[in-house]
Amino acid sequence: MKYFFETDFSHIRGHIIFLDIDGTIVPDRIDCVCQKTLENIEKLKLVNRVYLLSNNRDKRRLETVSVNTGLEYIKPLHRKPKRRILQEISSTPTEKFFVIGDQVCTDVLFAKRIGAEYIHVKRLRGENDSVKMRTIYLFDDLALMFLGFFMKI
Ligand SMILES: [Mg+2]
Repeated sequence: MKYFFETDFSHIRGHIIFLDIDGTIVPDRIDCVCQKTLENIEKLKLVNRVYLLSNNRDKRRLETVSVNTGLEYIKPLHRKPKRRILQEISSTPTEKFFVIGDQVCTDVLFAKRIGAEYIHVKRLRGENDSVKMRTIYLFDDLALMFLGFFMKI
């Protein structure tokens, strides 16, 4: 499994991409995006419609990451994995969705619910990861191990 910044997304073109924030492009509570991550985001942006999508309701953080990446974020009215998130964007029936994320309980389920292709990336961890996030990650890793037996993630 690779980190977002080292993953080759060149096969994804002309699609709508929902890009997770925490653990995917930045570690928990960090809003500075590293250069390699920014370069990969730029490549994705050139040939796709890319939206930031996070369950984190800290609007200031969302706006900061949005400014730092030049990506629009989807207003956190609904949480992943709710299908209703799709109401927040315009799309045509022929457009294909991709979800890029690091969590089974949110990103994988959301992708399944909207019929999107899913790309799982290695989680970015930081010394400042909150106790809450450490606990969520622990359970999510167990879910990933469990699902790994049945699905190709
Ligand atoms: Mg995440």
